[in-house]
Amino acid sequence: MAKKGTDPTMDKIVSLCKRRGLVVQSSEIYGGLNSCWDYGPLGVELKRNIKDHWWTTMTHRRADIDGIDAAILMHPKVWETSGHVSGFTDPLVDCKECKARFRLDQLDESECGSPAYKGRKASKCHEDGKFTEARQFNLMFKTFMGPVEDGASVVFLRPETAQGIYVNFLNVQGPMRRKIPFGIAQIGKAFRNEISPGNFIFRTREFEQMEMQFFVHPSEDDKWLMHWREARMQWYLDLGIREEKLRFHQHTPEELAHYAKDAYDIEYEFPFGWKEFEGIHNRTDFDLSRHKEASGVDLTYYNDETKERYVPYIIETSAGADRSALVCLVDGFREEEVKGEKRTVFRLDPRIAPIKGAVFPLVNRDGMPELAHTIDNDLRTKFKTFYDDKGAVGRRYRRQDEIGTPYCVTVDSQTLEDQTVTIRDRDTMEQDRIPMDGLKQWLGERLGL
Ligand code: ATP
Repeated sequence: MAKKGTDPTMDKIVSLCKRRGLVVQSSEIYGGLNSCWDYGPLGVELKRNIKDHWWTTMTHRRADIDGIDAAILMHPKVWETSGHVSGFTDPLVDCKECKARFRLDQLDESECGSPAYKGRKASKCHEDGKFTEARQFNLMFKTFMGPVEDGASVVFLRPETAQGIYVNFLNVQGPMRRKIPFGIAQIGKAFRNEISPGNFIFRTREFEQMEMQFFVHPSEDDKWLMHWREARMQWYLDLGIREEKLRFHQHTPEELAHYAKDAYDIEYEFPFGWKEFEGIHNRTDFDLSRHKEASGVDLTYYNDETKERYVPYIIETSAGADRSALVCLVDGFREEEVKGEKRTVFRLDPRIAPIKGAVFPLVNRDGMPELAHTIDNDLRTKFKTFYDDKGAVGRRYRRQDEIGTPYCVTVDSQTLEDQTVTIRDRDTMEQDRIPMDGLKQWLGERLGL
């Protein structure tokens, strides 16, 4: 898919998302809740389509991966064992002057909180000695289980979905009679009390992850890491994300998590710079060994052909559903000029477009609306569609371009004579006439559905 036109700024994306009801601030009527966002009717379709496509790719198309849906609240020991209670921290610093709090490693991306220094980088204030010493801040949200708020009932909102997979290793491997290598996939909410959330849905305190943990023999870890590195990058390329906007970043020894042997981020060049939106990590046998030790449950795997018993290594692919949606928004929205007229078009893979087809009667008389409704109802049995009879057809096209609808179908006077409709393509803006009868099949083929 060629993506001509200019890249939008973040401001344009945020305001378009609000205007078209894709993503809006949480609790807006009360002034909003910082870093929390609600997905509106079109946004929820977009994010669901991304998650469904990921789920289909991971669990339906592959014979070696099963899915689960674990609870968000888990036994507190899980988080002690995983190292999150002691180590899931970010370095926090306070500005002595404006009292704002920042993440030490993000001072370059943050602005000083004082109105007197508006626009000044927080790192500059740091250089000027205006900050307190860094202290470690745990990112896990705590809450209480049951009616008594005492220490015994403290539970955490999970900061990653992965642990729900590790503790269920035996519950999948046994019932599904899995042999290594195999994987377990999960999509779900995660929560992190981020010190500096921001950049719209890029860094929030409540978000969704699409994670897959692949269990392998320790001698095959590098091979599977490379396999998943390539497979995950290819997934985004297949969705039409521009290749020049994607890259890998291999973690340096200083960046590697304490449990990881090797790790790659998939980064996208957002308007605010190159940033990670998926991580592919070799987590070694750290997780299963720790849970085995702490729970006393044997989480080893026995290969009855080779008679070998071992703790499997884990290769993890960890993507953010919200960050992936942001990649699609940023990569897809283009402003272009066609024959002297400006249009905003959301060039989105048809599989993840919120609305697959819009149906218009050319005019609201002569039986055209009735016929258009019949066509819309028929298409709706298979695809999410939208019926629009308001305003000039050109304007109706523009409204659909802006939300990424791949095809618009118009019923006109010729339809009444020969049962053909016009189909207009979002990207080429070209129109075709096809028989009404074959419309559903025609669309299905082009939408890849
Ligand atoms: P960062 O360095 O940006 O904080 P991370 O390295 O902590 O990210 P991981 O723990 O590897 O991120 O999480 C895997 C994925 O989960 C990320 O690539 C991202 O897509 C998503 N994710 C993590 N934190 C957030 C957040 N605060 N808001 C939205 N998505 C997030």
